[in-house]
Amino acid sequence: MIVTMRISVIGTGYLGAVHAVGMAELGYTVVGIDVDAEKVAALARGEAPFYEPGLDELLAKHAGTGRLTFTTDFAAAAGADVHFVCVGTPQRRDGLAADMRYVEAAVDSLAPHLDAACLVVGKSTVPVGTAVALADRLAKTAPVGAGAELAWNPEFLREGFAVEDTLHPDRLVFGVTSDDAERKLREVYAQTIADGTPVIVSDLPTAELVKVSANAFLATKISFINAMAEIAEVAGADVTKLADAIGHDARIGRKFLNAGIGFGGGCLPKDIRAFMARAGELGASHSLAFLAEIDAINLRRRQYVVDLTRDLVGGSVANRRIAVLGAAFKPHSDDVRDSPALNIAGQLHLQGARVSVYDPKATDNARKVFPTLPYADSAVEACRDASVVLHLTEWQEFRELDPAELAGIVETPVVVDGRNCLDADAWRAAGWTYRGLGRP
Ligand code: NAD
Repeated sequence: MIVTMRISVIGTGYLGAVHAVGMAELGYTVVGIDVDAEKVAALARGEAPFYEPGLDELLAKHAGTGRLTFTTDFAAAAGADVHFVCVGTPQRRDGLAADMRYVEAAVDSLAPHLDAACLVVGKSTVPVGTAVALADRLAKTAPVGAGAELAWNPEFLREGFAVEDTLHPDRLVFGVTSDDAERKLREVYAQTIADGTPVIVSDLPTAELVKVSANAFLATKISFINAMAEIAEVAGADVTKLADAIGHDARIGRKFLNAGIGFGGGCLPKDIRAFMARAGELGASHSLAFLAEIDAINLRRRQYVVDLTRDLVGGSVANRRIAVLGAAFKPHSDDVRDSPALNIAGQLHLQGARVSVYDPKATDNARKVFPTLPYADSAVEACRDASVVLHLTEWQEFRELDPAELAGIVETPVVVDGRNCLDADAWRAAGWTYRGLGRP
């Protein structure tokens, strides 16, 4: 292993910051570069600019050594052997496609500094065909004869487990156009590969497609079980038992079969939409037409909870106190991008409800996105005098709430378990009307 390898990481958000730290943990000299000066300053002080378990500890471990630095200056990337592009690819404002401005800008800012042979490795999630176009762009913008080559190494980390997933991924995918690029990537990940992580080597478009098809499959699995929840609701069946039963079939598997308020976050929703948009550009809309239904099922679950809440308080939420437990799109994260919990809280607020939102980690981010929502400092405070309690992000803290204690402080003991993971029997025994999703 070449321990002296120099790495640059362009874009230090949820993906890039963790990747930079992971590369430092592998023993490399790493510079993280971002256009967000505040984020860079926090990282340079050894502070994670967002909540991700284990990140603070690794930042503190490496920031002091001088081997992990952060800057806004792209010149600092000069001389690195490998440059990982980790910038955002959000949904465009004017449609379903991915906004590629950040990736293009990152490559354009990096290119003038690539004056020696190196590998530029895309990690962002992009529409298939991006890598080939970027290779062309790089050839035109990098100094003549420099020998900068492009590869694609999509990232599969889960927020909340990002450090663990970065250090011990399920698999590595190397999209390359030369043996030299493959060799360099194998060097970068030598330790990870030695630990037993499988490697799939492919061309550039396949590597790009692996990522978006993985996310399309995961989204499909969640929307499948949520469609079953819709059927269970009208048939009087229990989707959680159904999921347990079909999940025992190894071909199906129990993971990602939890019915609830659906998926959100900065990846699955925008990735399936961008995938559909790209298929359309390629003349293959029909192949991914089903993803429109996956998206629609997902969004219906949010609406279902809003409608259910209205029904539970007698037809109008105006002036009713609604406790919302959770704002992050998932537990162990402070990420509120396209969060189903925050969306439901927002809809109820706009219908005149007196919403009170509590999240153990995501309140600051939620405030930035939805400043007019009232936020509480604790679950108990959020629940005080509530007509309905909505459990929308499955933080462990909410599972540990004492239903008997809460019953004493709410106005009406009615709980909607949007994640189907509270102990229904315990809540009912404490006097609560318990409503799960897709359950009688
Ligand atoms: P993010 O918004 O947290 O981070 C993106 C970062 O890029 C920001 O810090 C932003 O300031 C920076 N940036 C934007 N333009 C730049 C430029 N021109 N030069 C340098 N930096 C620039 O987003 P994220 O969640 O880290 O996602 C990044 C990419 O990784 C996306 O394509 C996403 O789909 C993909 N991805 C994310 C995850 C995840 O769980 N978050 C997992 C796998 C893949």
